[in-house]
Amino acid sequence: MAAGDQGLVFNIQRYSVHDGPGIRTIIFLQGCPLHCPWCSNPESQGAVKPLTWVKNGQTETITKWLTVAEVMAEIEKDEVFYRNSGGGVTLSGGECLMQADFSANILKASQALGISTAIETTGALPLTAIQKVLPYTDYVLFDLKIMALQRSKQIIGDNTAWVKASFEAALAADDTTVIPRIPLIPGFTTPWDNLQQIADYVTSLGIREVHILPFHQYGSQKYDYLKWPYTLKDTPLLTAAEVSHIHDFFAAREIKAVVSGLE
Ligand code: SF4
Repeated sequence: MAAGDQGLVFNIQRYSVHDGPGIRTIIFLQGCPLHCPWCSNPESQGAVKPLTWVKNGQTETITKWLTVAEVMAEIEKDEVFYRNSGGGVTLSGGECLMQADFSANILKASQALGISTAIETTGALPLTAIQKVLPYTDYVLFDLKIMALQRSKQIIGDNTAWVKASFEAALAADDTTVIPRIPLIPGFTTPWDNLQQIADYVTSLGIREVHILPFHQYGSQKYDYLKWPYTLKDTPLLTAAEVSHIHDFFAAREIKAVVSGLE
């Protein structure tokens, strides 16, 4: 089998309305170069390799190797919903660019069927990864997390140069809409100096709209299944007033901040 003919998937979620326009099928691909402490899909982290966890006393293999044809068969099940809602397929993770050849093949096959395509990414990989998928991607939901290099190194890794290069490549791509997204993680991404750096960065690129994704705790139980520590267990959710304050912070900088769905 050639590179990119099969990939490692840990979930397929149908009827999603959070990850791009309309009703979408989300393909969650294994592997992520980051270790965000707030990650709601910790099972995706690290290298692309099969993984098990223990749930209710049972050991479960949560990843599965699938061919492009097998993934396409899942995607095609909901074509009628995509057509009626303006939806399509979204590749998520983990970091779908860890399996860039496989991702490109799925996106290309989807576009060939007239199905709208999206990826969710942090772009924290060498530029060649995102370049493989951009020709077949209608929407890039691009997470901007921590802009300052030193702070990024301490928390999620030494990757700000890759993130910026990938982001700017996505912006420059023909026929691709980029939606910058900022996960609002208390104490990590929400310090005002970080939000200011993100505002300065997007403004420098002529961007006037971002999506903000308030912190949630939906993935916390997975850390128990993996027997991994979860350091944000007691971190409270942002209040509506705090989210509104952040919204107003961006508005004061002439950036519309759309409160959006899950990270
Ligand atoms: S980039 Fe996303 S999937 Fe990867 S560790 Fe961070 S939150 Fe988790």
